[in-house]
Amino acid sequence: GVIVVGSFNVDHVWSVATLPRPGETLAGEYRSGPGGKGFNQAVAAARSGAAVRFACALGDDAGGQLARGLAAADGIELHALDSSAPTGTAGIYVDREGRNSIVIGPGANAMLSAAHVRGLGSCLAEAGVVLAQLESPAEAIREAFALARDHGAVTLLNPAPADAEVPPELWALTDLATPNETEFCTQLQRLRVAADPATVAGLADAELHALCRRLLPHGTVVVTLGAAGCFVSHAPGSLRGDRAACYRQPAPRVDAIDTIGAGDAFNGALAAALALAPGASFAGHAARAVHYAALSTERRGAAAAMPRAHELTGRFGD
Ligand code: ADP
Repeated sequence: GVIVVGSFNVDHVWSVATLPRPGETLAGEYRSGPGGKGFNQAVAAARSGAAVRFACALGDDAGGQLARGLAAADGIELHALDSSAPTGTAGIYVDREGRNSIVIGPGANAMLSAAHVRGLGSCLAEAGVVLAQLESPAEAIREAFALARDHGAVTLLNPAPADAEVPPELWALTDLATPNETEFCTQLQRLRVAADPATVAGLADAELHALCRRLLPHGTVVVTLGAAGCFVSHAPGSLRGDRAACYRQPAPRVDAIDTIGAGDAFNGALAAALALAPGASFAGHAARAVHYAALSTERRGAAAAMPRAHELTGRFGD
């Protein structure tokens, strides 16, 4: 199974003609729904067919109730810390060109603790994969990864959002990292390695591979490249079910109408593939994740838009 350690947010989304300027009042079309990278990825993993447990922190409020109801509906087992802080929220404005401005109120998400993660106990022994993002405290993720290592589970870090720092101890506990182009370059820049998100996808495979090796010398790096799919880079011996040390997995052409949450779809599907067939070739898992994420862009919404495994059948030759 998959254990996801991460965030749950109630997303409040306003579609506006232009993003509001200081002092401006605008009218926009409003909708709200579940979000948070942790929850989105947990839903994607569950709908990809894996048994999923989601460790998170929730407030005693309507948002917390929403999380509990939706997790149950997707068969996700919650391991929730009950916090006195409000459930996480995100205020999102999206303009006509699809540009957005986002404010996140971490609320309860910031209260997720190492002690709460330790409470997962024996579940960690059964999990094949532990998946985390950076919307939760690093201490909690570090604890989950350390326990995962003790139990022989694969640790998958999605280093998102880009502005979050990754402590060196957390990189050391990571088997597999999945940055997008921006996150990849931001994290490399923190290591004083020059990298430009605008040119990453166009680099020669050998150059991109070398950058991946700088980021995670001992592990596998998968850089997601939007409509171009992803690039996979293995360290010698890391998660290699294939001969090649690096390769690209192109994305199928789809009618993408909403790419928000595509990265979350990718991560959930990749974690599920690794958990469901640990011995299979990694290239197959990467193809599955790319196809699943591509399909998720054909509909609007984050968690709610995650496809179900059967919808992929036959779609891209899977
Ligand atoms: P993020 O959402 O984190 O920015 P990406 O934009 O790299 O991540 O997208 C993640 C994955 O979603 C890609 O690897 C790809 O499989 C899929 N994807 C995203 N945008 C498109 C698109 N326009 N067409 C097809 N697939 C896409």
